[in-house]
Amino acid sequence: MRQRITAFGTIALLCAFGRAALGQAADVVAVNGKVFTARDGGGLVEGFAVRGDKFIAVGTSEAMRAHVGATTKVIDLAGRFVTPGLADGHFHNEGGGPGIDLSATRSIADLLAAVGAAAAEAKPGDLIVSNSDWHEAQLREQRLPLATELDRVAASHPVVLVRGGHDYILNSAALRHWKIDKATPVPDGGAITRDASGELTGELVDNAKRLVTLPPPKAVTVADVLTTQRKVNAFGITSVRIPGSYKGEFFQALDAILAARRDGALSLRYHIYLPGSGVRDPARIREIIAKSPLKQDEGDAWVRLGGIKLLVDGGFEGGHMSEPFAGEYGKGGTFFGLTVVPPKEYNAVVKTINDLGWRATTHAVGDAAIDQVLDAYEAADAEHPIAGRRWAIEHLFVSRPAQLARMKKLDLMLSVQDHLYLAAPALKNYLGAARASQITPVKSYLGAGFLVAGGTDSPVVPFNPFFAFYHFLTRDTITDGVYGANEAVMSREDLLRMVTINYAKFTGEADVKGSIEPGKLADFAVLSEDLLTVAPAKIPDMRAMLTYVGGREVFRDGAMK
Ligand SMILES: [Zn+2]
Repeated sequence: MRQRITAFGTIALLCAFGRAALGQAADVVAVNGKVFTARDGGGLVEGFAVRGDKFIAVGTSEAMRAHVGATTKVIDLAGRFVTPGLADGHFHNEGGGPGIDLSATRSIADLLAAVGAAAAEAKPGDLIVSNSDWHEAQLREQRLPLATELDRVAASHPVVLVRGGHDYILNSAALRHWKIDKATPVPDGGAITRDASGELTGELVDNAKRLVTLPPPKAVTVADVLTTQRKVNAFGITSVRIPGSYKGEFFQALDAILAARRDGALSLRYHIYLPGSGVRDPARIREIIAKSPLKQDEGDAWVRLGGIKLLVDGGFEGGHMSEPFAGEYGKGGTFFGLTVVPPKEYNAVVKTINDLGWRATTHAVGDAAIDQVLDAYEAADAEHPIAGRRWAIEHLFVSRPAQLARMKKLDLMLSVQDHLYLAAPALKNYLGAARASQITPVKSYLGAGFLVAGGTDSPVVPFNPFFAFYHFLTRDTITDGVYGANEAVMSREDLLRMVTINYAKFTGEADVKGSIEPGKLADFAVLSEDLLTVAPAKIPDMRAMLTYVGGREVFRDGAMK
């Protein structure tokens, strides 16, 4: 009896599964879904088949069932939406970190309470430092705390609040500790902010941060790398591009990522740019390259080295503009933002990178910064063409139409993020309503035919990819309504491509990933809603239900059967 059942079972398999039983079985087959493939020419399909780490077929549920064999895992998508694995084109780390966590504060009082609690636990004189992943735009008062306010809750401890990548806020004890007062010369490419009566507020911007020496970050471990990837996999993210800084010391962190790679422990693919931000000396570029365990385009589908990340201007409060900042921030029409690396030095650095056959990407927030980048890139291009070599610019908050033509000529790729979603009111204060409303004009960039990759700049902005999708679709912001509806990207397919196939083209990996097609790496995410049709208001609350990287399940939501 037992034998006959077995025999019957085998025959049934042969009949039902045709080719699969002849040795072509897939490891995973997904059916009954709405699968956005991101293939050229578009196209939704019902399912796909995976063998090993790659897709082997896409198409109708019926066609995919032909790949089911005795050991195939079948995923019934039950109508759910599937995207190629999402990518973050500008990701530093997931946030958090060892300092005080200010990310959930919503008022100056909340922030002072957090600092006060840390002071109560610290020994007198101990330094108190915050994490960087917060912004004053999230506070009801929409302003930074003052040194004098921090003094009220932590008078006997030096306090340094790290805010994003460009700002420190110190209390009076910290200002005294580092001997910063009204007589301190303002470093080139930096700012020491004063209030209306000329007193220091405690804010140090960009190069002025160098007046302060924070303790070295602790070593990044393999466990830290695994923590990060677990968190981002839960949002359907399968690839990140790291622009010159990750967590901790760059090369030590890179070693930890490579150690995780050797252990076969990665569930996130890394495209890494070496740290050239702030570098003014070409010799330093050669040292950085010499120190790197990977050279440009070396690595594999898990960890690949992309080039070198440079920087010319500040961030929210220091982007270099051709028109002065607004209101009090414009200091009577004299403040245009910061040149963190001056043209002469920057040009020499870019020339060296190009001479070495390397690729650069540069942080440029303001239009004057973009001019500076284009001048340097054009000079480099005249010596050895950079077109077709995937040079890029990061952020591009404010640009002028004429600059797009110059960028096009150099075949530059554009890396954009949703800073405006988080920081809109602050940016309005700095730049005025009209300029702020046009920040990061993604529709114009796509319309001009650029290869645009999306991302978040986490932890400056939360890494949640659905926040960015929602913002680029609606131009809505967390606390201040819609900014510049004319720049809303109507095509949800285009927005998805920015974080799937465009990203893969951006990193030169479109032959191996970025779309759901036979022969490509089986990186995909099943999402909680249909991103092509869901009501916009629901998008920020979306999440991944299931994430696969290289044919392997790396995240499953409890609600996903
Ligand atoms: Zn960044």
